[in-house]
Amino acid sequence: MRFDVLTLFPGLFDSVFAESIVRRAIDAGQVELHLHNIRDYAPGRHRVTDDTPFGGGGGMVMRVEPIMLALEAIVGGELIAAQKRSGEVQVPIVLLTPAGEVFSQRMAQALERFERLVFICGRYEGVDERIVDLAVTHEVSLGDFVLSGGEIAAMAIIEAVTRLVPGVLGDMRAIVEDSHARGLLEAPQYTRPAIYRGLAVPEVLLSGNHALVARWRREQALWRTAQRRPDLLETTPLSEADRRALAAADGGADSARGVTHDPNERA
Ligand code: SAH
Repeated sequence: MRFDVLTLFPGLFDSVFAESIVRRAIDAGQVELHLHNIRDYAPGRHRVTDDTPFGGGGGMVMRVEPIMLALEAIVGGELIAAQKRSGEVQVPIVLLTPAGEVFSQRMAQALERFERLVFICGRYEGVDERIVDLAVTHEVSLGDFVLSGGEIAAMAIIEAVTRLVPGVLGDMRAIVEDSHARGLLEAPQYTRPAIYRGLAVPEVLLSGNHALVARWRREQALWRTAQRRPDLLETTPLSEADRRALAAADGGADSARGVTHDPNERA
């Protein structure tokens, strides 16, 4: 997987990707990250990347030309034009914008199937809309809030996609069980000590019985999702056993909240 990022602030990526899974994936040759400063592609001695908005209003707008020249140099003008013409995308050109489709695990999975992804990070009041007409194939938002730039959104997407690249996470099971991977939130997790400040880990997790543990986790995931994100259940495939567990959820409300009891208290 190759990521190309167009930004006015390439340095922002250094600290985040100096460590982390993305760094390891880069070192292992599983992903490539290429940062491009849009300013380098701005024509003219002053390399101006922004200008005042037509029609007035405050702030500055990023000019279309430096971004277009950068894309042509990095992706190639023919491919960009062909993608726009045919609608068949070979290299997604992703514009980060609060007006885009909200990012999700499903979108991360879809993006991972490409060999290469290109991100355009906006700044100021955003980018000249004509970059969308000319080159952008996906407009993506990180969520219903406004950031000062697309960089953090691009980093979040790069990290989410990198985790899905085969071989990046050693333990493939972890990917399957991650929250959202199966349309459910993940069950609560615990590690040593077994009792902390009177709070005991659910007994089943200490039982060594893998089937029971798997069932407990599935139920917890179902209950949690029902309580916190019922919208997810509308599209998640559920088995008969899942439905029974959900129907019993009222009785299990305590455990659904992750409230556990110290077995010593009961003794
Ligand atoms: N005036 C714009 C917001 C500009 S914020 C508007 O109201 O739509 C500056 C830049 O930050 C944007 O161009 C975009 O690249 C990025 N950005 C802000 N919020 C974002 C979000 N929720 N998701 C992705 N990118 C975002």
